Amino acid sequence: MRRRSGDPDPRRTLPGVDRLAEAVLGRERGLPRWAATEGARRELAAARERIAAGERPEPEALSEAAARRATDLARPRPGRVVNATGVVLHTNLGRAPLAPGAAAAALEAGSRYTDLELDLGAGRRGQRLAAVSEKLALLAGAPAALAVNNNAAALLLAVSTLARGREVVVSRGELVEIGGSFRLPDILEAAGARLREVGTTNRTHPDDYRRAIGPETALLLKVHRSNFEQRGFVREVDLPELAPIAAEHGLPLLEDLGSATLVDLRSRGFPAESFAPARLQQGADVVCFSGDKLLGGPQAGLLIGDAEALGAMRSNPLARTVRLDKMTLAALDWTLGALLAGDAQGALPTLAGLTEAPEAVERRARALAERLAGVAGGALRIDVQSSRAPVGGGSLPGFALPSSAVALRPPDGAERLASRLRDADVPVVGRVAEGALLLDARTLLPGDEEAIEAALTAALKDSVR
Ligand SMILES: *Cc1c(COP(=O)(O)O)cnc(C)c1O
Repeated sequence: MRRRSGDPDPRRTLPGVDRLAEAVLGRERGLPRWAATEGARRELAAARERIAAGERPEPEALSEAAARRATDLARPRPGRVVNATGVVLHTNLGRAPLAPGAAAAALEAGSRYTDLELDLGAGRRGQRLAAVSEKLALLAGAPAALAVNNNAAALLLAVSTLARGREVVVSRGELVEIGGSFRLPDILEAAGARLREVGTTNRTHPDDYRRAIGPETALLLKVHRSNFEQRGFVREVDLPELAPIAAEHGLPLLEDLGSATLVDLRSRGFPAESFAPARLQQGADVVCFSGDKLLGGPQAGLLIGDAEALGAMRSNPLARTVRLDKMTLAALDWTLGALLAGDAQGALPTLAGLTEAPEAVERRARALAERLAGVAGGALRIDVQSSRAPVGGGSLPGFALPSSAVALRPPDGAERLASRLRDADVPVVGRVAEGALLLDARTLLPGDEEAIEAALTAALKDSVR
């Protein structure tokens, strides 16, 4: 509504920041004052713009909106959500959840003094990475191992160490973008190496590599495509063909595997290349991959392989800029210990989620459906349907896990219910398909059923208000 000329300037009627902040604190007890003040400041700025556009904000609506802003500001981030998408390694939801033991190890390392860089036996300075490198090498059956901040950093460190100022040969079919601004050519450039592309987008032959190798060549690099597949008229040079070429020319062969396991899941239908130790056996000198993808640990970049190459990486000054912090190190150490103990599926939520039998997932979906029907009391249609979800996290493209989901069909539309569930105290993230909100049971962690029940109860109360 436009302001008539006789009205006072409505901007004058807006409360001051302090008064609005007090109103916010009155509404939402327990909010910190900084958040109330900042929420009030932002809402007042928005209100001034609305007034300039001809609107007249209600005082009650003003404090409600400011309180919403303040609550959002004060919320711990990242905060817990329920992953009901079925995507075990959901990049937007933080990829692999840590095992409780790994999380406890991180908490202890973070809140206490530790022997991070102390050799307790000798009473002298020790190496912060020694224990983790040892466990990783043992597990992978590799001569040496190294862990850094993430896999992008692992690749940067490896290329910088092995090929700075020289050429890296990569197939055009493997010049990938992973998302979140990881683009292979950019990483090579940042590492100070020159990219020598070979082959075409869909076909690369062994001879393409041979022809590209010259006096400037320092490294052959193979990159896992991770988040897409090539089908049709395609030709890829895999390690068994590439390794002899590298050896013939005395060049190191590095593979960026992206996502990998250190337990052999090939018998469970996982693609052969997901098992990192096998890649070394097939001739890669060094393999790097993420700690928080299929491995099921904390964010880290893990390197396994040739002792001399890894030794050189360890003494590269870049290693210090990409080193792991003590909490991650503790979580990684615990995770590798669990893998060494041989009970990976029992201990690591990611592997449990990836390998749980479809029948067991269906049973959990049915129990959840019953529970939700109890709180919905006929307000919406609820049933269980089979679903398929990709693994996610740039892992195993083209591979989907059979699963079961609770399908909710509310009368006012699945999108609205999805949005209300995301708004809950513990937000629930599902996916909408064919008019239903699907809550996949495969990715639910202990305690998530209660959170979903609470979120649905609140959402239904909202919708009748
Ligand atoms: C995921 C991925 C990366 C990046 O790993 P981060 O741990 O996210 O840094 C690099 N290369 C490949 C092939 C990947 O799949």
